[in-house]
Amino acid sequence: MKKVVDIAHDILKNINIENGIYADFTCGNGYDTCFLASLEKVQKVYAFDIQKEALQQSIQAVSELGYYDKCRFILDGHEHLDQYITEPLAGAIFNFGYLPHGDENVTTLLHTSRIAVQKALKQLQKHGMLILVIYPGHDEGKKESCYFSEWVKTLDSHYYSCMGIRMENKKESPYLLVIEKLRNQ
Ligand code: SAM
Repeated sequence: MKKVVDIAHDILKNINIENGIYADFTCGNGYDTCFLASLEKVQKVYAFDIQKEALQQSIQAVSELGYYDKCRFILDGHEHLDQYITEPLAGAIFNFGYLPHGDENVTTLLHTSRIAVQKALKQLQKHGMLILVIYPGHDEGKKESCYFSEWVKTLDSHYYSCMGIRMENKKESPYLLVIEKLRNQ
């Protein structure tokens, strides 16, 4: 079976919007940013992280692949995304938690994740997709998991489609919440 992050990439790859603007709201070492920038249909990728070293690593990774010109790197919290992104988003990913092999204390926090996800949803264009990768296996991730898994159920089905993708026989494994905007409000 594929890892959830690879399933997230499949979903992003299948968004049927040409020349779209995308965002990686937790770019870390740049795995998701590089993936998005590699897609031909992608015009621009906004990449956020609060860790300078992580951003530098990502800049190096996209540069080596020849995609630097397609990316805008932002050293700031994703909760401030509306200060940087004015265009409608075709797709976006929040890969929550902390950097693998990095400082586990520098993790996404529910109180800012919540603000950021709400702002990102507002910025999404019709048929755009927002993907949350949730890690319930650590304390902050558990809080994000409890909150977002209930929150998606409250989104009006006339405007949004929401799907959860998770392992059913492995309790604390990472999972996806995928939101498609069906129409503008
Ligand atoms: N997508 C990354 C990759 O491909 O390597 C992995 C992301 S890692 C699970 C989560 C990242 O979120 C960390 O690099 C962390 O610094 C970042 N982060 C934490 N709080 C943030 C915030 N408020 N805004 C933006 N990034 C944040």
